Parts: sequence; structure tokens; C-alpha cells
Amino acid sequence: MTEPIRIELPTLYGMKSVNAYLFLDPEPVLIDCGEKTDASWEALKTALAAHNLAVKDIKKIIITHAHVDHIGMAGRIVEESGAEVWVNEYCYDWAVNTEAMWKQRMEMMEKHILGEIPAEGGANFKKMVLPFMNAVMNAWDILPAEKVHSFPMEGTLNFGGTDWQIIYAPGHTNMQTCFYQKEKKWLIGADMLLSITPTPVIEFRLDDPTERQKGLAEMLQSFDKMKALEIDTVFPGHYEPFGNHRRLIEAQVRRIHMRKDATYELIKDGKHRFYELFDVLYTNRMNMPGMSMLRGYLDLLIDENRIEERIEDGYTAYHLV
Ligand SMILES: [Zn+2]
Repeated sequence: MTEPIRIELPTLYGMKSVNAYLFLDPEPVLIDCGEKTDASWEALKTALAAHNLAVKDIKKIIITHAHVDHIGMAGRIVEESGAEVWVNEYCYDWAVNTEAMWKQRMEMMEKHILGEIPAEGGANFKKMVLPFMNAVMNAWDILPAEKVHSFPMEGTLNFGGTDWQIIYAPGHTNMQTCFYQKEKKWLIGADMLLSITPTPVIEFRLDDPTERQKGLAEMLQSFDKMKALEIDTVFPGHYEPFGNHRRLIEAQVRRIHMRKDATYELIKDGKHRFYELFDVLYTNRMNMPGMSMLRGYLDLLIDENRIEERIEDGYTAYHLV
């Protein structure tokens, strides 16, 4: 078995680029496949050509999680190649029923981020978030159901001539799987292990779409799961492959708790609204990842019974318990 071949594809969203991984034998397989943009398509073609392949040669696409930068271009590749797409059970609806799922997720965003922000504090948020969210579907094709297959959240998948253990790794999203090759100690890490701390996206719970998933708490649990694995090389969803994953995890977890405690101190000092906290923690950085992280710090503080939510003047306020 040979090492996954990293193909770096451009993305419109935060990370600047996203990785697809190519396996040549016994058949050409891609793990994740970028966004549906012309730039991404050209980059994929060029990368495949270096291995004497064209898009039409791809036989299978395996998806780690159904986010636009990982699955968006699958439809276009399927059109050209007739490849079969494999997604985990939790991603299946996202793959074939994309618009309805996206609408549900937008509603969750509105309710839990935008809905918390009074008009005067929220103008910038809305200016930034809504166009960003609405543009996503332009870079994401809905897949034809007959081409989509699902694999379970645990067990093994065979690609690249070997078995890979499927590891459920919720946190960044509750539908994320990583793939682990035990003999080589390789992990295809999706957005679970990255050189920068992954962020838990605002999304609904799998068992109750009307409720928001508390992603950061889940992410901390998944970090523990990852720490227990013997890994020599992580092949992440973004940026360069790396080793020494335990040291990375420890640093990222330490920082999460530090930022969580900083959030607590701000509340103690009289900042009670989401956007007031955000302004201090992420000054001049109107960004989605920042919003997700702050939402996560608040969730953790509530779980730790250090703060509580109250509705004041129709909006959520955070107070020390
Ligand atoms: Zn990603």
C-alpha cells in the first residue's frame, strides 16, 4: 500500500485550500474532492494528470463529512466519470437531499446566532453571515441518489489496497468520520485534526433537528479518542500532513480552556450578550469560526454550571451562576 497522495484544491471558504487524497491502486479513489468551482476543477485535473489520470478515471469518491469544501465537487466528478460516492450514514441525507438539509441548518444559524443579536449590535453580523451562507449552495451539487452509498459509523472500509478503520469523530460536525490505517499508523483526519484548531459549526442535532448540537463538548471527547490512537502521520483535511498529534491536541485543548476562561471573566466583568463578548474576543475579526467557538465556550461554561442563560429584553444574556 502506498501513502495517500495529497491534492491541494482552492476553496472560497476560510481555510484557503482543502485536501483531497488520491489512491491509485487497485483503482483510482479520491477521499474528499473540494468545492464545485472552475478553479478547483482545473486544480484537480492538473493534479490527476501528473499521475496520468483524467477525472473520468476516478472510480470512487469517499467523503469524510458533508461540508461544501469536502463534497461540493462530487456531483461534477460523478457526471464526468460515473464514479460511485460513499458517504457515512449521517452524511447520506446531506449528499442526496442537500437543499433541505441546508435550509434546516440555516434556520439553526438564524435562531442561535442571528436571533440572539439585537439589531444595533447585529448589523455587521448579518452583513457578513448571510451572503456567506447563501453562496454555499453555488459550490455544491446535489448528488444523484443512485450513485450514493452509505457506510456505517464504525467498521472498516477498503481502499488503496488496504483496510481502514472508520472512526466517528464528531465535533467540527456531528457527521464526520476519519479513517485509520493501523499497520502504517496513518490517519486521514478530515477536519478533526488540523494544524489550526478546528471549529464546531453551528448545526442541528441528529436525533432532534429542532435542537442545536453542542459541538465543542463533542470535539473535546473526540480529541481524547484521537489521543488514544497510535498515529505516525495525520493526513488532514486542510494544510500539510504532520506527526506528533498528541502534542498538537494538548496545545489546542489547553487553548480552548484558556479562551473559555477568558469568556467567563468577560461575563464577570459585565459583558452579558453574545455580540458584546464576540467584540472583545474577536476584535475586528467578523468570522464564522470565531462565532462557533464563542458559542462553544458558552456551552462549556453552562455545562460546567458556571454561567446561565437568561432572556432579557427578548434576547439571550449570560450571567454567572
Ligand atoms: Zn473542511
